[in-house]
Amino acid sequence: MFDTLSDRLTSALQTLRGKGKLTDADIDATAREIRIALLEADVALPVVREFIAQIKQRAKGAEVSGALNPAQQVVKIVNEELIGILGGETRRLNLAKNPPTVIMLAGLQGAGKTTLAGKLALWLKKQGHAPLLVACDLQRPNAVTQLQVVGERAGVTTFAPEPGNGVGDPVDVARRGVEEARHAQHDVVIVDTAGRLGVDEELMRQAADIRDAVKPDETLFVVDAMIGQDAVTTAEAFRDGVGFTGVVLTKLDGDARGGAALSVRQVTGQPILFASNGEKLDDFDIFHPDRMASRILGMGDLLTLIEQAEQAFDAEQAEKAAAKLGTGQLTLEDFLEQMLAVRKMGPIGNLLGMLPGAGQMKEQLAQVDDKHLDRLQAIIRGMTPAERADPKIINGSRRQRIAVGSGVTVREVNDLVNRFFEARKMMQQMAGRFGFGFGGGGGS
Ligand code: GDP
Repeated sequence: MFDTLSDRLTSALQTLRGKGKLTDADIDATAREIRIALLEADVALPVVREFIAQIKQRAKGAEVSGALNPAQQVVKIVNEELIGILGGETRRLNLAKNPPTVIMLAGLQGAGKTTLAGKLALWLKKQGHAPLLVACDLQRPNAVTQLQVVGERAGVTTFAPEPGNGVGDPVDVARRGVEEARHAQHDVVIVDTAGRLGVDEELMRQAADIRDAVKPDETLFVVDAMIGQDAVTTAEAFRDGVGFTGVVLTKLDGDARGGAALSVRQVTGQPILFASNGEKLDDFDIFHPDRMASRILGMGDLLTLIEQAEQAFDAEQAEKAAAKLGTGQLTLEDFLEQMLAVRKMGPIGNLLGMLPGAGQMKEQLAQVDDKHLDRLQAIIRGMTPAERADPKIINGSRRQRIAVGSGVTVREVNDLVNRFFEARKMMQQMAGRFGFGFGGGGGS
């Protein structure tokens, strides 16, 4: 869904890459690009304004960090601000201390409420809850049947008014539904309410009456991420007319711009709890602001890696290594130092798994373990300073001597030397591609 936004933001940030120092003009130019990217993605204007003001202010007064170059610092700031817009911490569903927990769904017709009722029920059921669906959408033809079908698919019970009794009173059905849940030991009740094509007073009044009758622990405002700027106005209308405690974004699998949905949290002050991204019952997940932000920035978990690097790297040493990296002058001595620094960051398998593109390298990664690194360290320690500085001089007889001295086979020494040359080449390429030298510093 956020592909275009993601592309634009990444390219805005990439123009900073390789700059040793950022001037105010650089920051202003990047901020302008980011502004256009957000507006084109339909993010609401007041949200964009505040976002840009924050980025400028923080980037201009950026804390000097030894491990990050200026471009990386801006990426970090943009990421943190984006997480802020999306709500900061992940907000979990509130379950009542005295069950049943009552969850009411509100939103426009077609927003995806009925589908969501089924998704939420299945998700709760998988966690050991016994949810009951309550069909209070008595307006839309077939809405009750649709909820029953969804309920059956999720394997949960649906409470619905008996057919043939005329239109029925949704408030009464909601009340009886909660009673039924108490009776039949359901610990969560999900109340599906009627929507309309547009916001209207009667709709709001009915939803408010249901709310007053069942006193929900959570009222979730369900909004279709594809409706553009209307998402914000609809959210405001529901906030004022019914009130809600959380937001669910649906249809995030669509290819629309979706930025309006990203503004809902900032505009209404209520957190996004869940995201729906398909028609199947399990196309549904908890909404994590941090994961969504890094997805939008298209950087995988690289940002986590940056943060850990900040904590673990010796700035001076990283600076030195990074400077050599670009010129291809990295020695085995640096390699050893870098390896020791990286190992301070945690088990090596985890770190490598966070690099972009690591997904396809899983098998190779599985073979990299810390014991293996111990052996590599032993081999490098068995070399003379001259050999570490210029690995090309390590000929056959030197390899033999190193192997004996470090208690490994000649083959392992060969592997290390070959891998070092490969790694040097790869790091040079990576530094070029991302502007992230190993250890940051000057970058490329
Ligand atoms: P309601 O009127 O709010 O109850 O909306 P429905 O649950 O009936 O959903 C309206 C339409 O949107 C249906 O065709 C659903 O299959 C579809 N829908 C719901 N959620 C999603 C989603 O996350 N992704 C996609 N692609 N379609 C969805």
